Amino acid sequence: MHRLKPHEAASLPREVLEAHVVSLVRQCPDLLALRGAHARLLRLRLPRLTAAFALSKLLASCAASAATTTTAAAFYARNLFDQIPDPTAFCFNSLIRALSTAGSPAADSFLVYRRMLRAGSPRPNSFTLAFGLKACSAAPAPGEGRQLHAQAFRQGLEPSPYVQTGLLNLYAKCEDVALARTVFDGMVGDKNLVAWSAMIGGYSRVGMVNEALGLFREMQAAGVEPDEVTMVSVILACAKAGALDLGRWVHAYIDRKGITIDLELSTALIDMYAKCGLIERARGVFDAMVERDTKAWSAMIVGLAIHGLVEDALGLFSRMLELKVRPNNVTFIGVLSACAHSGLVDDGRRYWSTMQNLGIKPSMENYGCMVDLLCRSGLLDDAYSFVTVMPISPNSVIWRTLLVASKSSNRIDIVESASKRLLELEPLNPENYVLLSNLYASNSQWDRVSYMRKKMKGNNVTALAGCSSIEINGYLHKFVVSDDSHPDIKQIRLVLREIADRVLRAGHKPWTAAVLHDVGEEEKEVALCEHSERLAIAYGLLKTKAPHVIRVVKNLRFCPDCHEVAKIISKSYNREIIVRDRVRFHKFMGGNCSCKDFW
Ligand code: ZN
Ligand code: ZN
Repeated sequence: MHRLKPHEAASLPREVLEAHVVSLVRQCPDLLALRGAHARLLRLRLPRLTAAFALSKLLASCAASAATTTTAAAFYARNLFDQIPDPTAFCFNSLIRALSTAGSPAADSFLVYRRMLRAGSPRPNSFTLAFGLKACSAAPAPGEGRQLHAQAFRQGLEPSPYVQTGLLNLYAKCEDVALARTVFDGMVGDKNLVAWSAMIGGYSRVGMVNEALGLFREMQAAGVEPDEVTMVSVILACAKAGALDLGRWVHAYIDRKGITIDLELSTALIDMYAKCGLIERARGVFDAMVERDTKAWSAMIVGLAIHGLVEDALGLFSRMLELKVRPNNVTFIGVLSACAHSGLVDDGRRYWSTMQNLGIKPSMENYGCMVDLLCRSGLLDDAYSFVTVMPISPNSVIWRTLLVASKSSNRIDIVESASKRLLELEPLNPENYVLLSNLYASNSQWDRVSYMRKKMKGNNVTALAGCSSIEINGYLHKFVVSDDSHPDIKQIRLVLREIADRVLRAGHKPWTAAVLHDVGEEEKEVALCEHSERLAIAYGLLKTKAPHVIRVVKNLRFCPDCHEVAKIISKSYNREIIVRDRVRFHKFMGGNCSCKDFW
């Protein structure tokens, strides 16, 4: 292209100059090139109107590249915008778009939108709202998002496909699946791949695996071909639900369809196989990867750690450092929890300094791992002093770890302060009352147990039902305590009776304190324990035969009595049982559990 000189620019008509601007900006592949073009245009000393036109084109191009360059692009976009004398709706939209990437707070975009509304002119259009909604999904900022939804409704912009997609993404991301589904069902015209993927992703995020996979099947029936993004969502659903057979089917489907297994998809597969209890397959996916980033390494290290494969996890971490891949907070969650699983206190402390030497600021989860490590190694005093000097205020997980660890100590001071802080932080979480009641019950402090019960009623704490699920023939069966709704409940009860007989013969006495496990449901408790995890295990015994592994996922902590019973079942029925509860994996074989009774 001919390089214009300042004296030439002065004599050219406006249309020619604008065409020159457009072609110059179009050639810029990145932010750096854009800045270069900006400098060249400044040197041309363009007339006022053409200069404003040039700025708006630079701004639009900068907004489009903001997805990859985030903060720098957002900063530059603001700079450009401030120089435009009478910004058009197109300029406002470009700025909102530039600020709507994951790196910027949603409030920035929202403030620009508010400024536009206050000015009265130009009026926001469907693109303004679509970019604003994108900012709210990226943050995520559900409150601001809902305000934009109301605005869209008021201005009659709700039916626009851009606004619809924006709303669907927002609600799916903010885990409001009911609203997301309403938007999805109301979408005019054919739904595109983005819409299907967003809705499937929404279901996955909240763990509604049957719904996610049902929609995936509907999507195929509608003739829409999935891409990597859709498959990551589906894999995520399987990982959350611990649905191994479905996960394997999805993996085979990806292979069959020739869908590219990129970094993100490989990492999702590693995570899924690890969370579904098949660590060897996770390792297989990891080893087959040509290129690996920090996320992939971290997923593998965390996976090995939750399976208690400590040497492998730490070995892989050394390899990662050798290859000069920079670890992050997630990597250290894996490393520190691996140390915790085998009581490697000194190593754990060493890794803690490594993390700080690398300039990685410990996250709340990292502090939690350290407390867990010290507690598991019986260093309750060290754990407690570590907690008291933490630079950030400890969260409920950390206080719960301390409480579990002080169960068989005589440290009433720790129990008192930890329980006080825990109930201050989460006065409405029924799990805390269960934990404390069980703790007091195991020390025979019955007055405290009844105090907990009263406090819970007084605070109007509603029971959070324990829910366990098991996948049989590609369908996820969910159970809650004393669940009558399952079509096979009669046969399940027969299995439970048989279990009760075998457990009795094994000499196990039901642990009465565990009665409080599913709070609020204790009235329903009958001699035959019907906690959700036991119903799911019984269903597994009913529907599968050895050597099939019975895999159960529970949303809360394992009930201590059911944990004992699962050990007896594994021996008496000679079955391998794997239960993933909210904290970790329990692998029962021959009468023992891999957690060694600490969880
Ligand atoms: Zn139980
Ligand atoms: Zn266990």
